[in-house]
Amino acid sequence: MSYGETEAVRGIDLEVRTGEIFAFLGPNGAGKTTTVEILEGYRHRTGGEVKVLGEDPAGAGRAWRDRIGIVLQSNSLDPYLTVRESLELYAGYFSHPRSVEETIALVGLEEKADDRARRLSGGQQRRLDVGMALVGDPELLFLDEPTTGFDPSARRQAWDVIAGLRDLGKTIFLTTHYMDEAQRLADTVTIIAAGQIVAQGTPEDLGEREKAAATIRYRDAMGEEITIETVDPVRELNRLTTAALERGEELDGLEVTRPSLEDVYLDLTSTTEGASAE
Ligand code: ATP
Repeated sequence: MSYGETEAVRGIDLEVRTGEIFAFLGPNGAGKTTTVEILEGYRHRTGGEVKVLGEDPAGAGRAWRDRIGIVLQSNSLDPYLTVRESLELYAGYFSHPRSVEETIALVGLEEKADDRARRLSGGQQRRLDVGMALVGDPELLFLDEPTTGFDPSARRQAWDVIAGLRDLGKTIFLTTHYMDEAQRLADTVTIIAAGQIVAQGTPEDLGEREKAAATIRYRDAMGEEITIETVDPVRELNRLTTAALERGEELDGLEVTRPSLEDVYLDLTSTTEGASAE
């Protein structure tokens, strides 16, 4: 996809399997929205081949659109409609909608069913957004940064809702900035940076990259900070603790850390930015 001289995404190749949660991860400006909008049929690509549910989104019609649900970043709720009214209105746009009461239960808004949208908290509004996308009973759901701005407990609840959708057999294309979200939810993670895919695999595969080295830290008897990098932390710890016990000393502030998936992600995405700037 080019915007004039700018190639926003180039040569990306990805495959999403039916029934999986596919996380599409990347920093600001990486090309996520561009890609997703092409898949949703909202943006016309300048090159390449795309098939979504067996059809090219650029030419797909009403029947295809019926099979897809979209939750955008900014919500489009009518502040004066209640949760139930909003869902009833939306259900009317689809040929085979899911029952409104069932949808309310799916997103956990039973208690708020008769409250107007403007009275809902940010997290509850986001759930209503998800409900709006679900009421058409889509096979494939696009979720664009569904938990941005959530507090930790609202994020956990949203994750439960999303995991519940996979259990219903939905395919979920999840765009996110958060590695932990991808790690927690996704079957497959694809990382995009500067318009190109820099890593792809299961969260475990990506985690393999972090096996390289662990860092052991402690303060010695003199109070000095000691840092040891090791590929074999078990053996190294055994050596350290045995020696300390023999001397009758403590290893104050002892900790063992490995680079988190977040570190791996930052590492991957910063390298490409550097490369494309050259
Ligand atoms: P974010 O996380 O900030 O939403 P993103 O990964 O979704 O970022 P895109 O919106 O796809 O990124 O943008 C990718 C690149 O394409 C950026 O460099 C952006 O400036 C450029 N771009 C996006 N839309 C247009 C447009 N309509 N015209 C020109 N350039 C655009």
